[in-house]
Amino acid sequence: MKKYVKRIALGLMTVTMAIGLAACGKKKEDSKIVFGTNAEFPPFEYVTGQGVIGQYDGIDMSIAKKIADDNKMDVEINNMEFDSLIMALENGQVDAVIAGMTVTDERKEAVDFSIPYYTATQVMIVKEDSDIAKASDMEGKKIVVIQGYTGETVVQELGYKDYTSFKKGSEAILELVNGKCDVVVIDSATASKYVQDNPGLKIVEDSSAFASEEYAIAVKKGNKDLLDKINKSIEKMLDDGTIASLSAQYLESTGE
Ligand code: GLN
Repeated sequence: MKKYVKRIALGLMTVTMAIGLAACGKKKEDSKIVFGTNAEFPPFEYVTGQGVIGQYDGIDMSIAKKIADDNKMDVEINNMEFDSLIMALENGQVDAVIAGMTVTDERKEAVDFSIPYYTATQVMIVKEDSDIAKASDMEGKKIVVIQGYTGETVVQELGYKDYTSFKKGSEAILELVNGKCDVVVIDSATASKYVQDNPGLKIVEDSSAFASEEYAIAVKKGNKDLLDKINKSIEKMLDDGTIASLSAQYLESTGE
């Protein structure tokens, strides 16, 4: 009889421990989502006094918050250099990357992308009196790009080898404002933001040289569970107009 009771007790203990462990593991995994970003990319992500997630604000930050809310998870932003984001995903430092990141074949080899949530293109920002009217006019001019952005790849693909790359869009714009370069190649919405905030600049488009690009959220390869959750949220936000109105709102506001 005693032995029997002992065995039940032992069995119960094992079951309790197993449940405890499972719950613990599940809680840790499900209760918080850490998004990696590079908060140097208005209107998608930038640092401000009071943002939608702590000091971080922008279209992407609002999308990240909604994804977390939809899944009843807390949200945390890990702000780092754009070039480090994919590695941070691979080594588990972040769960997902939301950074106005364009889907490219090269990146697809390293990460899994969500459904796209925004369409953009590269554009040229020049001084208002510039004679640059199309991409081929950049020949012989001082070109500036941001390191690791698709803009850098596009400039290379157009055959320009002689360009300067900066770590931040704001540094590139300063270079242009100060007359130290002739043109900055960068994503369209971010360009609009910079032109709004810096008088004397204009945007030059060239759809024959710059193809359209799609922004998506990246997760670690094979993280289907999280990707499904993210896709469900994005689909909802695309369908009900949330993303369209966020884009309009953040493009209009003065932001930083
Ligand atoms: N869309 C560009 C890219 O993916 C720039 C993104 C960014 O700076 N956040 O490279």
